[in-house]
Amino acid sequence: MFKALLLTKPEDGAPQAAETTVSEDDLPDGDVTVAVSHSTLNYKDGLALTGKAPVVRSYPMVPGIDFAGAVIESGHPDFSPGDQVILNGWGLGETRWGGYAQKARVKGDWLVPLPAAFSPEQAMAIGTAGYTAMLCVLRLEDAGVAPGSGPVLVTGASGGVGSVAVAVLARLGHEVVALTGRPEESDYLKGLGASEIMNRAEYLGDPKPLARERWAGVVDTVGAKVLANALAACRYGATVAACGLAGGMALSTSVAPFILRNVTLAGVDSVYAPRALRRRAWDRLARDLDPAALQSMTEVIGLGDVMSAAGRIVEGKVRGRLVVRIDG
Ligand code: NDP
Repeated sequence: MFKALLLTKPEDGAPQAAETTVSEDDLPDGDVTVAVSHSTLNYKDGLALTGKAPVVRSYPMVPGIDFAGAVIESGHPDFSPGDQVILNGWGLGETRWGGYAQKARVKGDWLVPLPAAFSPEQAMAIGTAGYTAMLCVLRLEDAGVAPGSGPVLVTGASGGVGSVAVAVLARLGHEVVALTGRPEESDYLKGLGASEIMNRAEYLGDPKPLARERWAGVVDTVGAKVLANALAACRYGATVAACGLAGGMALSTSVAPFILRNVTLAGVDSVYAPRALRRRAWDRLARDLDPAALQSMTEVIGLGDVMSAAGRIVEGKVRGRLVVRIDG
């Protein structure tokens, strides 16, 4: 038996979470069993826990889209007992039991070895949010956005994806403009390396087809009007890595940035990203994310705190990243 947070949902009611003990027999099929030490709380976990969006596809569910831990049993050739591993996405916490439990059973093909540069806690301070931020950075780099190309805009900058994107891009030598609805976080964002703070309100109106050319690249976590305004202000040849919907799903724009300025709108998905890309992203995080910056953006909470933290994250009130301690 082991400890787990179990999410149930009464018909027509909001999800309810309870810390409980479950049996190993209840774990889903898989060739690797992991003793989970840390998980994390991302925006998607917030949506799952509050029921604000239909993230959870079946109940009862152990939420948590990420975990870090040590292999207990393995039938997979790449993993042996004792190996430290991480997992991001692959439907955990959505379609199959996830990281908010002391044990998880998964397919070994979904695991990434814990990079030597990180402790399990640091890897979860990064979590899906930070790994997605790196996928966005790789998308910009692969499109030719280099330091010196021009300013790179990061939207939803005080959030998890945003904070890691600001820190990594600044460390790589980019001029980073941080768009935020929380001007009170300006010092925090400058501490992560932003050279300029832009108020979200500037991007909440209806955009013109084209605005003054500003951005060589954009990491967008917000979607909706903010993304539409960012697209209109892209420089010739710019790339926008779009990964989020914190401001909404809709996107109303024109073709002008694409056909007149050669702008690329590049989608970024972390959940089903192939293994090689995941390893590339984690290798780059080990190289390009300053551990001090990571620490400055991280708060550690317990399993008992996740429901209240879920409410805060969907309201846009969490700054940076939340690690969830499982083994404490
Ligand atoms: P956070 O809540 O940590 O960050 C989101 C940030 O967006 C907030 O901190 C806030 O930043 C801003 N924001 C919040 N509400 C609004 C709003 N109504 N309008 C405009 N801006 C808003 O979430 P994460 O960083 O974990 O995730 C960010 C987004 O990326 C989410 O939509 C998430 O679903 C998505 N995501 C997608 C992934 C993928 O695979 N495609 C993977 C990971 C995340 P500020 O106060 O600074 O403006």
